[in-house]
Amino acid sequence: MAEAQRQGLVVASHGRHCVVETADGERRICHPRGKRSQVVVGDRVLWQPPPTGQGEEGTVEKVLERRNLFYRQDEIRTKSFAANLDQILILIASEPVFSEMQLARALIAAEAAGIAPLIALNKSDLAQAFERAWERLAPYRSMAGPSPYPVLPLSLGQAPDAAKDMLMPLLAGKTTLVLGPSGVGKSTLVNLLVPGAAVLTAEISQALNSGRHTTTSTALYWMDAAHSTALIDSPGFQEFGLHHIAPTDLARCMPDIAAHATACRFYNCTHLHEPGCGVISAVKSGSDAEGISAIRYSIYSELFKELGQTRY
Ligand code: GDP
Ligand code: ZN
Repeated sequence: MAEAQRQGLVVASHGRHCVVETADGERRICHPRGKRSQVVVGDRVLWQPPPTGQGEEGTVEKVLERRNLFYRQDEIRTKSFAANLDQILILIASEPVFSEMQLARALIAAEAAGIAPLIALNKSDLAQAFERAWERLAPYRSMAGPSPYPVLPLSLGQAPDAAKDMLMPLLAGKTTLVLGPSGVGKSTLVNLLVPGAAVLTAEISQALNSGRHTTTSTALYWMDAAHSTALIDSPGFQEFGLHHIAPTDLARCMPDIAAHATACRFYNCTHLHEPGCGVISAVKSGSDAEGISAIRYSIYSELFKELGQTRY
C-alpha cells in the first residue's frame, strides 16, 4: 500500500516542479500528479514521497482549496502564480519613475482576487524625485472605498531600521506577496526582512533546475522562526493578467470609480458615454476628494476597452 498522503506547503515553483515544505520543515522536490494540474507558491497540498527505488521526486496528489489565487500574464496567456495570500505589497520608488498604468493594473488584480494591497514608495531620501512621486500618488492616498490604500514612504537604503519598524506591524502574521519593477529596491527589501534570503534563493534555484542552470523562481520565505509571517518574492514586475475580469466588473476593482458608480442613472452604466453617469460627472469635478482624477479615469476607459477585446 502506498504511504499515507501528507500535508505540505508549496514554497517555490518552476515549470513542472515545485518545492514542498513538509509538516516537519523538510523541503522536497515534487511534481503534480496530473499533466494538467497546476501548483503555485502558497498552495497547501497533499503530497506523497516516491516509492522506494524510484528516485527522489515526490508527487503532489491534491491541491487543497485555495482562499484566493493571483494571476500574471505571460506572452500568450494569463497564468496563476501565487495562492492563499493575505496581502500584496507593491513596491515602487522615487526613481525609476513608476508607471501609473502598471500600478493601477497591480491594484486591480489585487482587488479582483479579494486581496488587500499596500503601496510602498522607496528611496524617500531622493528628496525632489520623492516629492514628485508622492504627489502622483495623491489619488491613491485618498482613494474612496472602504479604506484608502496605505502608502508607506520608505528609505530601505538609507534608513533600513525605520523602514523595518514601519513594515513589521503590517506584515506580522501574514503572507505577503511583494511585487515591484526592477531597480526599486525589491532585493534590498527581501534581504532586509529575510535573513539568509540570498542563500535560500540560490538553494531553491539549484534544486529546481537540478543544478543545470539557475533560474529565479517565485519563492516563499519565512520571516520568523514560528513560520507565521511569510514573504513571497517573484522575479521581475509581472504584467498582470486582467483578462479573467469582465469589463463590467472593472469599476468594482477601482474604488474611486466604484464610489461614484452608485450615482449613475443606469444600473448597467459603462461610465464611458451614458447620460446621468456619476463617474463622468465626478471626473468633471476634478481630482479633489469629491472627484476622480483624469489619469485614473483614462486608465479605466483604456482597460475597459482592452478587456472587452478578449473573450474566452
Ligand atoms: P531591485 O532591482 O528592485 O531588486 O532593486 P535593488 O534592491 O537591487 O536596488 C536597486 C538600486 O537602488 C541599488 O543600487 C540600491 O542600492 C538602490 N537603493 C535601494 N534602496 C534605496 C533607497 O532607499 N534609496 C536610494 N537612494 N537608493 C536605494
Ligand atoms: Zn456611469
